[in-house]
Amino acid sequence: MARIALFPGSFDPFTNGHLDIVRRGAALFDKVIIAIGTNSSKQRYLPVERMQALIATVFEDEPRVTVHTFKGLTAEFAREVGARYLLRGLRNSLDFEYEMPIAYGNQHVNTELETVFLLTSPTLGAVSSTIIRDIHRYGGNVDAFLPFVLPPVAELG
Ligand code: ADP
Repeated sequence: MARIALFPGSFDPFTNGHLDIVRRGAALFDKVIIAIGTNSSKQRYLPVERMQALIATVFEDEPRVTVHTFKGLTAEFAREVGARYLLRGLRNSLDFEYEMPIAYGNQHVNTELETVFLLTSPTLGAVSSTIIRDIHRYGGNVDAFLPFVLPPVAELG
Protein backbone atom coordinates (compact mmCIF):
# COMPACT_ATOMS: atom_id res chain seq x y z
CA MET A 1 0.00 0.00 0.00
CA ALA A 2 1.38 3.42 -0.97
CA ARG A 3 2.50 5.57 1.95
CA ILE A 4 0.76 8.88 1.39
CA ALA A 5 1.60 12.00 3.42
CA LEU A 6 -0.61 15.08 3.55
CA PHE A 7 1.19 18.40 4.01
CA PRO A 8 -1.54 20.86 5.05
CA GLY A 9 -1.17 24.60 5.56
CA SER A 10 -2.26 28.06 4.57
CA PHE A 11 0.73 28.48 2.22
CA ASP A 12 0.01 32.21 1.89
CA PRO A 13 2.47 32.14 0.20
CA PHE A 14 4.24 28.77 -0.15
CA THR A 15 7.93 29.38 0.70
CA ASN A 16 11.35 27.75 0.29
CA GLY A 17 10.85 26.51 3.88
CA HIS A 18 7.71 24.65 2.77
CA LEU A 19 9.53 23.39 -0.33
CA ASP A 20 12.27 21.93 1.87
CA ILE A 21 9.69 20.02 3.94
CA VAL A 22 7.99 18.68 0.78
CA ARG A 23 11.26 17.49 -0.76
CA ARG A 24 12.40 15.79 2.41
CA GLY A 25 8.92 14.32 2.89
CA ALA A 26 9.03 12.95 -0.66
CA ALA A 27 12.18 11.05 0.30
CA LEU A 28 10.27 9.35 3.14
CA PHE A 29 6.87 8.73 1.55
CA ASP A 30 5.59 7.40 -1.78
CA LYS A 31 3.40 10.44 -2.33
CA VAL A 32 3.10 13.91 -0.80
CA ILE A 33 -0.16 15.82 -1.14
CA ILE A 34 0.16 19.54 -0.47
CA ALA A 35 -3.23 20.67 0.85
CA ILE A 36 -4.13 24.36 1.01
CA GLY A 37 -6.75 24.84 3.71
CA THR A 38 -9.53 27.23 2.74
CA ASN A 39 -11.66 27.14 5.86
CA SER A 40 -9.75 29.87 7.65
CA SER A 41 -11.77 32.90 8.71
CA LYS A 42 -8.80 35.17 8.00
CA GLN A 43 -8.63 36.85 4.63
CA ARG A 44 -5.88 35.52 2.37
CA TYR A 45 -3.12 37.58 0.80
CA LEU A 46 -3.02 35.39 -2.33
CA PRO A 47 -6.21 33.83 -3.67
CA VAL A 48 -6.14 30.09 -3.08
CA GLU A 49 -6.48 29.16 -6.79
CA ARG A 50 -3.55 31.42 -7.62
CA MET A 51 -1.40 29.81 -4.93
CA GLN A 52 -2.39 26.32 -6.05
CA ALA A 53 -1.36 27.12 -9.65
CA LEU A 54 1.99 28.62 -8.58
CA ILE A 55 2.83 25.61 -6.38
CA ALA A 56 1.84 23.24 -9.20
CA THR A 57 4.47 24.84 -11.47
CA VAL A 58 7.18 23.95 -8.93
CA PHE A 59 6.27 20.24 -8.97
CA GLU A 60 5.23 19.80 -12.61
CA ASP A 61 8.04 17.28 -13.14
CA GLU A 62 7.37 15.43 -9.87
CA PRO A 63 4.24 13.30 -10.25
CA ARG A 64 4.58 12.05 -6.66
CA VAL A 65 3.82 15.56 -5.36
CA THR A 66 0.35 17.04 -5.99
CA VAL A 67 -1.47 20.17 -4.82
CA HIS A 68 -5.06 20.25 -3.58
CA THR A 69 -7.33 22.68 -1.78
CA PHE A 70 -9.71 21.58 0.94
CA LYS A 71 -12.38 22.86 3.32
CA GLY A 72 -13.22 21.48 6.73
CA LEU A 73 -11.20 19.23 9.00
CA THR A 74 -7.66 18.34 7.93
CA ALA A 75 -7.94 14.88 9.50
CA GLU A 76 -11.12 14.15 7.52
CA PHE A 77 -9.50 15.30 4.30
CA ALA A 78 -6.54 13.02 5.04
CA ARG A 79 -8.97 10.11 5.30
CA GLU A 80 -10.64 11.10 2.01
CA VAL A 81 -7.36 11.05 0.09
CA GLY A 82 -6.01 7.93 1.83
CA ALA A 83 -3.18 9.73 3.68
CA ARG A 84 -2.04 7.96 6.85
CA TYR A 85 0.62 10.57 7.61
CA LEU A 86 0.37 14.27 8.28
CA LEU A 87 3.54 16.16 7.52
CA ARG A 88 4.38 19.36 9.44
CA GLY A 89 7.50 21.48 9.76
CA LEU A 90 9.01 22.79 12.99
CA ARG A 91 11.12 25.94 13.03
CA ASN A 92 11.36 26.50 16.77
CA SER A 93 9.75 25.80 20.13
CA LEU A 94 6.85 28.16 19.34
CA ASP A 95 5.95 26.02 16.34
CA PHE A 96 6.16 22.97 18.59
CA GLU A 97 3.81 24.47 21.23
CA TYR A 98 1.38 25.42 18.45
CA GLU A 99 1.57 22.04 16.70
CA MET A 100 1.21 19.69 19.65
CA PRO A 101 -2.49 20.29 20.46
CA ILE A 102 -3.30 20.29 16.73
CA ALA A 103 -1.65 16.87 16.36
CA TYR A 104 -3.62 15.51 19.34
CA GLY A 105 -6.83 16.99 17.91
CA ASN A 106 -6.20 15.43 14.52
CA GLN A 107 -5.48 12.09 16.13
CA HIS A 108 -8.79 12.34 17.98
CA VAL A 109 -10.68 12.91 14.72
CA ASN A 110 -8.77 10.25 12.78
CA THR A 111 -7.08 7.64 14.95
CA GLU A 112 -5.27 6.16 11.93
CA LEU A 113 -3.40 9.39 11.32
CA GLU A 114 0.23 9.78 12.39
CA THR A 115 1.66 13.30 12.49
CA VAL A 116 5.30 13.42 11.39
CA PHE A 117 7.39 16.49 12.19
CA LEU A 118 10.49 17.48 10.29
CA LEU A 119 12.83 20.09 11.72
CA THR A 120 13.45 22.95 9.33
CA SER A 121 16.82 22.99 7.59
CA PRO A 122 19.17 25.39 9.42
CA THR A 123 19.26 28.04 6.69
CA LEU A 124 15.46 28.19 6.33
CA GLY A 125 14.34 28.65 9.92
CA ALA A 126 13.79 32.39 9.51
CA VAL A 127 11.63 32.06 6.39
CA SER A 128 8.00 32.80 7.19
CA SER A 129 4.94 33.55 5.06
CA THR A 130 4.10 36.48 7.36
CA ILE A 131 7.43 38.25 6.80
CA ILE A 132 7.25 37.60 3.06
CA ARG A 133 3.76 39.16 2.89
CA ASP A 134 4.95 42.20 4.82
CA ILE A 135 7.92 42.77 2.51
CA HIS A 136 5.95 42.10 -0.69
CA ARG A 137 2.99 44.29 0.31
CA TYR A 138 5.26 47.34 0.27
CA GLY A 139 7.01 46.46 -2.97
CA GLY A 140 10.10 44.70 -1.56
CA ASN A 141 11.81 41.87 -3.41
CA VAL A 142 11.00 38.44 -1.93
CA ASP A 143 12.46 36.24 -4.70
CA ALA A 144 15.10 34.76 -2.36
CA PHE A 145 12.39 33.20 -0.15
CA LEU A 146 10.18 31.62 -2.81
CA PRO A 147 10.45 28.84 -5.43
CA PHE A 148 8.51 31.02 -7.96
CA VAL A 149 8.08 34.70 -8.71
CA LEU A 150 5.18 36.34 -6.92
CA PRO A 151 3.08 38.70 -9.08
CA PRO A 152 3.19 42.38 -8.02
CA VAL A 153 0.66 43.44 -5.37
CA ALA A 154 -1.49 45.28 -7.93
CA GLU A 155 -2.03 42.00 -9.82
CA LEU A 156 -3.20 40.00 -6.82
CA GLY A 157 -6.87 39.65 -6.14
P1 ADP B 1 -0.52 26.94 9.02
O1 ADP B 1 -1.41 28.13 8.82
O2 ADP B 1 -1.25 25.63 9.01
O3 ADP B 1 0.46 27.05 10.16
P2 ADP B 1 1.64 27.48 7.17
O4 ADP B 1 1.45 27.64 5.71
O5 ADP B 1 2.04 28.70 7.93
O6 ADP B 1 0.30 26.87 7.67
O7 ADP B 1 2.70 26.34 7.46
C1 ADP B 1 2.49 25.01 7.06
C2 ADP B 1 3.54 24.11 7.73
O8 ADP B 1 4.85 24.49 7.31
C3 ADP B 1 3.56 24.22 9.25
O9 ADP B 1 3.86 22.94 9.77
C4 ADP B 1 4.69 25.16 9.53
O10 ADP B 1 5.26 24.97 10.80
C5 ADP B 1 5.65 24.75 8.43
N1 ADP B 1 6.61 25.80 8.08
C6 ADP B 1 6.38 27.09 7.83
N2 ADP B 1 7.53 27.75 7.51
C7 ADP B 1 8.52 26.82 7.57
C8 ADP B 1 9.94 26.86 7.38
N3 ADP B 1 10.57 27.98 7.09
N4 ADP B 1 10.63 25.70 7.53
C9 ADP B 1 9.98 24.55 7.85
N5 ADP B 1 8.66 24.45 8.06
C10 ADP B 1 7.93 25.56 7.91
